[in-house]
Amino acid sequence: MRPKIARRLMGQMRRDLNKTFLAHFTEAAERIRAGLPPLPMDYDTRWTRDYVRQQKEKMPKIGIAGSKWALAELEEPTKAIGETVDSLLVVGDPEDFLVDPINIKVDAWLEKVASDVTKRNAAQIQKVHDEAVAYRGPNGEALTPSQIARKIEKIAPEFTRHRARMIAFTDTNQAFNVGARVRYADLNVTVLEWMTSEDDAVCPFCQAMDGVKIRIEDSFWPEGATMTIQDGDVERRLNIKHGCENPPLHPFCGCVILPVIETLSVAVTQDDSTEI
Ligand SMILES: [Zn+2]
Repeated sequence: MRPKIARRLMGQMRRDLNKTFLAHFTEAAERIRAGLPPLPMDYDTRWTRDYVRQQKEKMPKIGIAGSKWALAELEEPTKAIGETVDSLLVVGDPEDFLVDPINIKVDAWLEKVASDVTKRNAAQIQKVHDEAVAYRGPNGEALTPSQIARKIEKIAPEFTRHRARMIAFTDTNQAFNVGARVRYADLNVTVLEWMTSEDDAVCPFCQAMDGVKIRIEDSFWPEGATMTIQDGDVERRLNIKHGCENPPLHPFCGCVILPVIETLSVAVTQDDSTEI
């Protein structure tokens, strides 16, 4: 469903993030070898800045891809619904990509999540470091700084690869849906509908969101919300820390938003009432 450009940018994003995260792990290992604590004093601001710089360069481009996709979604006669759609298609220059509103939303998202990304990586470094410091060999001997540094370097590639893949997937979908949302708002769409990728990877939380409709000025979930679902016998909870104006709902969420033409709901309601 996502256009090629979004997938290509996601690949670049993944590689660049991995490189950046690896550099942070390497920095920590070098500090340990020099007899310093693993995390530099300024890690939160500096590492977060490295992350934001990369995402800011790529996310708006993906947002533009999302806005184009949204436009195609509205112009698709089989999906767009009847004559009311024509009234929505007050399309100006198709090259007007609504860059400013997309940038504003991408910045707001990064402001909310960027420091968390850094802290998560730092927490992993600190955890491996602390475990290595506490370790004692068969004769009670401690590890040398060099051995501790090696442990950080050893876990880094797999950890950073997974993190980079997860963030690239999730932020690509965030940017894509931001672009779609901005485009819908520009075309006076008033109601949005959640749609899953409709494949086996859809989690029960997203399954529960499938088909949920909101007004475009609202959020699917406010900040700090907890979503609760019944999954068989088990009650499952998802903490939606940063709120959810549009998908993704969680890491690796591949859901999208569709435009809803409000007059359709009215027509359906009238049909129902005549049946009764
Ligand atoms: Zn999802």
